[in-house]
Amino acid sequence: MRYVSTRGRAPELGFDDVLLTGLAPDGGLYLPAAWPQLSRAEIAALAGLDYASLAARIMAPFVKGSVLEPDLAALAREAYAGFTHPAVAPLAQIGANHWLVELFHGPTLAFKDYALQVVGLMFERVLKARGQRTTIVGATSGDTGSAAIEATKDRAAVDIFIMHPAGRTSDVQRRQMTTVTAANVHNIAIKGTFDDCQDLVKAMFADQAFRAEFNLSAANSINWARIMAQVVYYFWAALHVGAPHRAVAFSVPTGNFGNVFAGYVAARMGLPVAKFAVGSNSNDILTRYFETGAMTKNGVVPTLSPSMDIQISSNFERLLFDYLGRDAAAVIRLMDSLKQSGAYTVAAGAHGDMLKMFEGFRLDDDGTKRVIGEVYRATGRLIDPHTAVGVHAARAAQLDPATPRLTLATAHPAKFPAAVKAATGVEPPLPAALAGLFERPERFTTLPNDLDQVKAFVREHARQL
Ligand SMILES: *Cc1c(COP(=O)(O)O)cnc(C)c1O
Repeated sequence: MRYVSTRGRAPELGFDDVLLTGLAPDGGLYLPAAWPQLSRAEIAALAGLDYASLAARIMAPFVKGSVLEPDLAALAREAYAGFTHPAVAPLAQIGANHWLVELFHGPTLAFKDYALQVVGLMFERVLKARGQRTTIVGATSGDTGSAAIEATKDRAAVDIFIMHPAGRTSDVQRRQMTTVTAANVHNIAIKGTFDDCQDLVKAMFADQAFRAEFNLSAANSINWARIMAQVVYYFWAALHVGAPHRAVAFSVPTGNFGNVFAGYVAARMGLPVAKFAVGSNSNDILTRYFETGAMTKNGVVPTLSPSMDIQISSNFERLLFDYLGRDAAAVIRLMDSLKQSGAYTVAAGAHGDMLKMFEGFRLDDDGTKRVIGEVYRATGRLIDPHTAVGVHAARAAQLDPATPRLTLATAHPAKFPAAVKAATGVEPPLPAALAGLFERPERFTTLPNDLDQVKAFVREHARQL
């Protein structure tokens, strides 16, 4: 499989290079040159596979030509072997025609494990085959950092540096990162905001000499490999409620648009999807976009669902590229406008086409607590604040009542105990994966929001390349 950049000015690459590169050198995001196609009969034949086998089948066309191709099935088995539920991603029914897809049975209890456990192994194997090493640098407001650290700790070919905003992540989220004391893991608390952390990462990638010296890679959802691994659970969940013989609807609590874009990929591959309900918290840039066709940047406000507190959804660029007929020049014009004026408007035709498949919803913190309470009283289940935003979107979506609604449950309620307790009066018990979290020693370095000092820290701690 060949990959192209949304900005059209970067070389086409194969899967292994796309995995290691992350952001394309022209500032764009990579995606496949063509969407693999599965017929209805081929999709029907996937029913009954276990999760890891399905993962290998769905990912196979994307890694064609990669050194990973021959051992993909074994890699997928290894990636999901440590998940704590035998189904890996079990479905739980919460309404007459409404299911949660539980994506929190991996080591860090959020859906990012479902991709990063695969991607961590892929990094190790590809680098080993090439006799190379890499340095992953990333910024996190919480869940990405811990999932990336769990996926790469102790891997011989990888050093990982994760920056989080000092004092601005939850205790559980911070400890999930800082109690991993493997020699190749480096947590940096930046005296600043999440946006400051992200700007530091971008600046390190923009410094071509530094990028080359440390062979920098990214673990955030601009990396195509993450999106690819997330496509799997869309097929998985839909097959369990009657696809491909009937269309299903997905509701996705959304931040950077990576997760819901993976669903779009599944649909482009042939999975019958009636709708994607895109759930946002009060940081509702996507909801406003779907309502108006204008993408307009605002400030970020902190909410009960911090992993969706975003200013702009970076993966939306991939959707734009596809809906604009893969016209890279048109994408560049919109991205320039965003940079210069903080806004762009999508032509009515393309925006209208998106509305056939996507509908945007928002839920503020009061609504989030209300939904957590309602679901608890109706079903006895505790859901996390991100999942609550998804449940709201699934309920509000305009759909044929016969269409199954699948809400992605993106985090375990125990990751956000304060919000869950405020909504229900019940403290979610810490699952086994987190037992002892508050007793283990933490290790992190606090640095000012200063690029030179962060670079010096990386230079000092990255193992010899
Ligand atoms: C990362 C995250 C999201 C947002 O996912 P995107 O791919 O950025 O849209 C939602 N919920 C949880 C719990 C997350 O960790």
